[in-house]
Amino acid sequence: MIPEVIKILLVEDDVVDQMAFKRFVEEKSLFYDYQIAGSSRKAIELLKKSKFDCVIVDYNLGDGTAFDIFDYIVDTPFIFTTGGGDEKIAVEAMKAGAYYYHIKDPERNYLEILPVSIQKALQNREFNLEKKRAEEALMESEEKFRTISSSANDAIIMMDYNGNVSFWNNAAEKIFGFKQEEILGQNLYEKIVPDNGPNYLKSLKYFWEAGIETSLGKTVEMEAHRKNGDVCNIELSLSAVMMKKGLDTIALIRDITARKEAEKALQESEEKYRTLQENIPMGIFRSSKIGNFISANMSMVNILGFKTREEFIRTSVDKIFNNHDDKIKYFHEIEANGFVANYELELKRQDGESFWAEINAKTIRDEDGKILYYDGILEDITIKKQQKEELHQSKERLNLILQNIVNGVIAIDSDMTIFMINKKTSTLLDFYPDPDKKYILTEALVNCKDRGKVLLDAMNEEIFTNLEFQVEYPLPRTLYVTGTTFTDFDGKSAGRILILADMTREKEIEKMKTDFVSSVSHELKTPLTSIIGFSKTILNTKDIDDKSRTEFIEIIANESQRLSNLIDDVLSISKIESGQIKYDMDYINIDPIILNVFNIYKAQALKKKITIKFETIKKLPRIFADKDSIHQIAVNFIGNAIKFTPNSGNIWIRLKKNKNNLILEIEDTGMGIPQKDQDKIFDKFYRVSRPGLEIQGTGLGLSIVKDIVHMHNGQIELHSKEDKGTIFRALFPLPASKSVS
Ligand code: ADP
Repeated sequence: MIPEVIKILLVEDDVVDQMAFKRFVEEKSLFYDYQIAGSSRKAIELLKKSKFDCVIVDYNLGDGTAFDIFDYIVDTPFIFTTGGGDEKIAVEAMKAGAYYYHIKDPERNYLEILPVSIQKALQNREFNLEKKRAEEALMESEEKFRTISSSANDAIIMMDYNGNVSFWNNAAEKIFGFKQEEILGQNLYEKIVPDNGPNYLKSLKYFWEAGIETSLGKTVEMEAHRKNGDVCNIELSLSAVMMKKGLDTIALIRDITARKEAEKALQESEEKYRTLQENIPMGIFRSSKIGNFISANMSMVNILGFKTREEFIRTSVDKIFNNHDDKIKYFHEIEANGFVANYELELKRQDGESFWAEINAKTIRDEDGKILYYDGILEDITIKKQQKEELHQSKERLNLILQNIVNGVIAIDSDMTIFMINKKTSTLLDFYPDPDKKYILTEALVNCKDRGKVLLDAMNEEIFTNLEFQVEYPLPRTLYVTGTTFTDFDGKSAGRILILADMTREKEIEKMKTDFVSSVSHELKTPLTSIIGFSKTILNTKDIDDKSRTEFIEIIANESQRLSNLIDDVLSISKIESGQIKYDMDYINIDPIILNVFNIYKAQALKKKITIKFETIKKLPRIFADKDSIHQIAVNFIGNAIKFTPNSGNIWIRLKKNKNNLILEIEDTGMGIPQKDQDKIFDKFYRVSRPGLEIQGTGLGLSIVKDIVHMHNGQIELHSKEDKGTIFRALFPLPASKSVS
């Protein structure tokens, strides 16, 4: 902009010229605000101090020339004046930057054109400043563009009309792998589009070939090649710029490979999720607050017996509940807690069939906490529940079997911890574990001989059978233990099962049998020896007197009778045991049978000075029984009473009745039966051991009695006290009907 008042510095040493300039400015009313320097020193001083729009400088200055001050003028346009004939100097001044020069004429006419020169000089300065500003702006914008384009993430590529690259930024290099020097001047299409690129790219090629405007301003996604041959996804937008040479194209390219991959991965995972959701054998549902199903997977639809999802969605939630109470309870729980976990309940399919379901669901609420939906998973657990129940039952059964089996069973794991022990074991070992505690095997063996050392030693063997093992407390017992290892699913040894068989009775029976054999042989031998001895004496003694013979024959007869009794007992027991015995059952009066036995044994009692009495009641009822068996019972009871009652004792034989039974009672004042033997004396071959008091017998009598009484549905009672006496009772049930009594 040219100022209205122009600030001028006139550097002139000639006072007349100074005056002429002043006058001229005044006469012409020029808007000049001027200062005059009369010397180069003054001029430099003023130039340093103030800024001028224009300097008019005369060549010859008193203290130097105009050239001395040029360096101080800097950006201010200046006009050079000089006297005539100095054109050469004037040219020099022009070279040094003067805008114009004037040759001073004596009439001072040059002043007339000076204002025009000043005006032009100022215009020129204005133009130069403008140009400089434009140049600076251009430089700045180029700089800016370079910075932006080199730091941009997107490729910025410029191509000429033929598609040959003329600009290539850092991002382009990063995306495609070509350096600027490799690609400049090359055809972009040929470099980055695969040889057998898809058809739609043809149009792109066409664009690059023809530069038609149809592709401009659009963004297309396409595949491109990197320098190393990798395929990448790019997003391309093209714009055209008009350059001096013609139309150029700017391509903005973004590498969207990662985005595409992420999109693909997302799509795949969504797809996978959808497939999973549809195919998972569990119902997935969303239901609304008002009680409709909003969405469901096909499993949900199928579980509830619907054919299509649409049909199911229209159904109200109410319909799947079996009853109102179930529904209320379910919703109460989910609303109170915000969820239900592993909630089991019986639901209804569309056809009305009930099934068991397990539901895991939660409430979805809005910002105010109001319930929007219920989201959940539903599983049909009918079969699972059945299997669980079956498993439970079979476990229960197994447990029942194990608990009630006649043998003791202990299962231990590999570190000897007991994880199963049955009742029988507890009884056998007198070990009653707290079910909530863990025990190791040694703790169960504290009542055993040497604290179960035999068994613990055997645990080194993989399998052992019938290991004889003694329990000492509370009763001595003999156990046979069988141990086996069992393996886990992976075939590793998981532990052992010990089976305990109580062999105490068997051991005793075995001993009894041995005792029996020696007892029977002894019993047989004693009468036989007498029989042989006395018969030989009779035969070999010629003049044997009648009295002795009779006495001997009596002995032979008695001993034969004893033999016969013994053989009868053995035969009886073997008959009873083998089930061969035939009972002739009838309603009988047993009075005469007992009286008969009483009479037979009276003589024996008399020999021992034992008082024996028979007492009965009037109108003794009949019983349903076998005569011979009743006889045998009486023989045994009465025989034993005499046998085990010392001389001068008492024996009572009684027949009586109570409400339901007829009772045969034999009481003696004999030696009695020790408490510890009382439950065993009815066993076969069992005899009370009375050291130093050997009383002959087989140990079979009471066993026979017990079998017979039980056969008659009766019972035996025993009351006995050592050295005081014994009462045996046989109770026979009375017939129900009065007519037979
Ligand atoms: P046996 O009399 O042949 O020995 P039993 O079976 O009849 O066999 O009797 C078994 C055991 O019961 C006898 O050995 C005896 O010790 C005991 N016993 C039986 N009856 C009596 C009794 N009245 N008094 C004392 N002990 C008896």
